[in-house]
Amino acid sequence: MKLGQLRTTIPRSPAYCACSRIGITYISQPLEPRTFARIVDEKWVLLKCPCGNFFGSSLGSNTSCTRCSNSKDIVTASSYPSPEKLADAVSRSNMPDEISNEVSKRLSKIETRQNRARERESQGRESVISAMREATGQDGIMSLKSVRESLIDRGLKEVDPWELIEDAEREGILHRAGVEAWRWVQ
Ligand SMILES: [Zn+2]
Repeated sequence: MKLGQLRTTIPRSPAYCACSRIGITYISQPLEPRTFARIVDEKWVLLKCPCGNFFGSSLGSNTSCTRCSNSKDIVTASSYPSPEKLADAVSRSNMPDEISNEVSKRLSKIETRQNRARERESQGRESVISAMREATGQDGIMSLKSVRESLIDRGLKEVDPWELIEDAEREGILHRAGVEAWRWVQ
């Protein structure tokens, strides 16, 4: 649908009109063509009532304030591609600033914690591999006993040497070289 066609169908006089024929909601403030095109694209809109309440709506549905039921002078604050994104925007917009800041602060804390956990995990893998290298003798062979000792030396007590070796075997890193003895795959 061309923008020009749409604009000619928008009634000029009423302050508010849910124009179901073309599936859009006309909101009292005249919309700039650019804004209008964007809203057509993203059909979940964040609306603001003169009472200060923000609420969400999909284009084409009734737009009356969820707090005071007013349907005049409703303005479109922004638009979103999905109802989930819109719901998030509605709750953030209605939050007092200090709460909104608190929420973002908490979210970034969670992110930092997750990053640290990921870092620890990769460091853990590195130390396990160095422990296995350390457990390898001059002959290129490591035993269950030497791996266990090496893990304990590095403070990796929670790593089961048997499981570790089995995993390494399965991944094709080690192959068996005798009773409780393994060699690195070249
Ligand atoms: Zn209201």
